[in-house]
Amino acid sequence: MTCIVCGGSQIAGLTGWHARCLGCRYESAALTPAINAPSAVPMDEAQREAALKALRVENFNTIVGYARQHVSASNPRLLDVGSAHGWFLEAARGQFDVLGVEPDAEVGGRAAARGLPVRSGYFPDAVGRDERFDAIVFNDVIEHIPDIHSALAACHAHLNDGGILILNLPNSRGFFYRVSKVLARIGWRGPFERMWQKDMPSPHVHYFDPRNLRELVLKQGFTMAKTAELPALRAEGLMERLRYVGKAAPVSLYLQYIVIRCAIPVLSIFPSDIIVSIFKKKAAS
Ligand SMILES: [Zn+2]
Repeated sequence: MTCIVCGGSQIAGLTGWHARCLGCRYESAALTPAINAPSAVPMDEAQREAALKALRVENFNTIVGYARQHVSASNPRLLDVGSAHGWFLEAARGQFDVLGVEPDAEVGGRAAARGLPVRSGYFPDAVGRDERFDAIVFNDVIEHIPDIHSALAACHAHLNDGGILILNLPNSRGFFYRVSKVLARIGWRGPFERMWQKDMPSPHVHYFDPRNLRELVLKQGFTMAKTAELPALRAEGLMERLRYVGKAAPVSLYLQYIVIRCAIPVLSIFPSDIIVSIFKKKAAS
């Protein structure tokens, strides 16, 4: 199999569906997305929202700040691809004229019912041919898209000159991902499968690090504007996350909470599992 980043040969990874490139360290998974299909692991959406919200909203506020630094247009237009619950739209709408596109009809419908501008469907089909934006954002979305080259080309086509592409995604150099790989090597595959969201409605098909992501995107008519790590764990909302992830007994839950609370300052010395990279569209020459 050919690496989508550097064109080298990928070798077999840690499971039958996992492959990696020795040249650029890009990793891929032959897992099939199935949005709007019944999930193998039924999810309680309300519980999931509570578990994720505190961490994500903090990170979204950080990303909106970065976006504003790199966009010079007045009244800039922002497209959020895979806008889900609409939290990023809410974080950004004070500073951008926002639009969301969401393929999950139920999730997108609920955000639209709260008054957020969300179109149902996939990018780029859900935006008009001549629609242009000053910023296009993918929050935990690009790693789910099999044909990433076409998605990036569509971003290039729908950005104004000097517009920015913001990719917020998991980091293959991240501490938790690397621990999950060690565990998979010694036979415990659960955490590794969870990192790839195997058996979830929309599993991951790519795992990048800041370097190979940059290599991929720069080939498609962009320049690098910024790359940064975002916290993968915050004390706020930690208990809700633990409650959601494991169905542990209360004693075990509180023990886990104490251990992780104490570990947060230590973990901050390792690479985070979440990165955000911002790319600027090159002006047509
Ligand atoms: Zn490669």
